[in-house]
Amino acid sequence: MKTKQDVIRWLGEHADEFIHLANQIWARPELAWEEVFSSRLQADYLESQGFRITWNVAGMPTAFCAGWGSGRPVLGFAGEYDALPGLSQKVQTSPEPVVPGGPGHGCGHNLLGTGCLAAAAAARYWLEANGKPGTLRYYGCPAEEGGGAKTFMARAGTFDDLDAALNFHPDQANYAMKGSNLGIYHLRFRFHGIAAHAGSAPHLGRSALDAVELMNVGVNYLREHVTSDVRIHYAITHGGDAPNIVPAEAEVSYLIRAHQPDTLEQVTERVRKVAAGAAMMTETQMEIIFDSAFSSLLNNHYLADLQYEAMKWIGPIEYTPEELAFAQGINDRYPAGNVEALFKTLRPPAGYGELLARFRGRALISENFPSLDEGAIRTSSTDVGDLSRVAPLSLLRTTCAPTGAPAHGWGFAAAAGMSIGHKGMLHAARIMALTAVDLLDNPLHIQKAREEFELAMQETPYHCPMPAEVQPPS
Ligand SMILES: [Zn+2]
Repeated sequence: MKTKQDVIRWLGEHADEFIHLANQIWARPELAWEEVFSSRLQADYLESQGFRITWNVAGMPTAFCAGWGSGRPVLGFAGEYDALPGLSQKVQTSPEPVVPGGPGHGCGHNLLGTGCLAAAAAARYWLEANGKPGTLRYYGCPAEEGGGAKTFMARAGTFDDLDAALNFHPDQANYAMKGSNLGIYHLRFRFHGIAAHAGSAPHLGRSALDAVELMNVGVNYLREHVTSDVRIHYAITHGGDAPNIVPAEAEVSYLIRAHQPDTLEQVTERVRKVAAGAAMMTETQMEIIFDSAFSSLLNNHYLADLQYEAMKWIGPIEYTPEELAFAQGINDRYPAGNVEALFKTLRPPAGYGELLARFRGRALISENFPSLDEGAIRTSSTDVGDLSRVAPLSLLRTTCAPTGAPAHGWGFAAAAGMSIGHKGMLHAARIMALTAVDLLDNPLHIQKAREEFELAMQETPYHCPMPAEVQPPS
């Protein structure tokens, strides 16, 4: 397996194995931190390919590292495998769960992890055949959906010796990201008051619910005085039990997002002050529970260009009439304007209107794009952000779903369980494997990627947003 053609051929010959792995994970969706089956399945496969497995990475039982080779460069592939609650979905063009209320792969992480795994396995055989130095690592990363395993791993130094990292996410088009997104804090504010009979002794009570409501009012005023990249959302997770008892306990869960790390810190500090003010007003005690924190993404443009070279070499994805009809069937179920929401960002990328015109009326996007989001800031968040701030990273996106079906929805989950998703996953595996071969073959690529990375780090040094005392669930 000496050439790039050999790498592509090997992935083609083993495509059924990867599809089988992705299907097994799709059919047995596991929520964040519960990925016992999915992580074991992937680790067993990589072990069978000669990788050394280390479990319990950064103290997380469903996190593992599979390593092969020795010496530099050290390349990391960051895979995920967690599902989303309530998104159980059959492989069909209308919404219907396999298990009512059950979890499902509405973000396509069954494809994400398996695509990264396939690329790592292919690169391993190229490395062996060419007798070159180099270390490949596949990181099995749990709990991307809200848990943030990669943030814990980044804090623990797991990625510190990586020369470069590759990651892929299912999408509605083929391109390597050059844009960014928002960093996020997930905090819960719990207030402790004094219960009392609401009718006969309200003056003796101190309402924790009042504190929650006053905090929300305060934060809603704060909204007027933040930069336009800031997003603040809350849900009251406990609001008392009965109106005839002054609530002694109440809790509100907050997501606070911003693009720049220092903006995120400052806004979060102001939200904390509002919460403290609410506690003071109501004579209650306030407690903060830290759920997770992700940094915003720093995509390496040099690596993205390298991935685009690989895409051009491979060519577009080809779809059958049945796949196009399936995709159209899903699109028909969604609002017609959904394609407009595609790549919806805070700051639209250059040529955005022209791009939408090319996509409108098409069920699946088969061709490769150099980058669809240069200069764009998305309003979503991912823990890949923390990996991207400790090693040069390129986040690849490939078409795994119809144009009208956004991630975290039933249509995306349906596509992730059939050939449209599989084709996108295998496309990503080929692109990442060829990019890895380039990085292993020519030290200049690593050098260029690192120069860009070091420059960005000088401008905005990385501070892990997860406080030292917060530990992942064990
Ligand atoms: Zn996702």
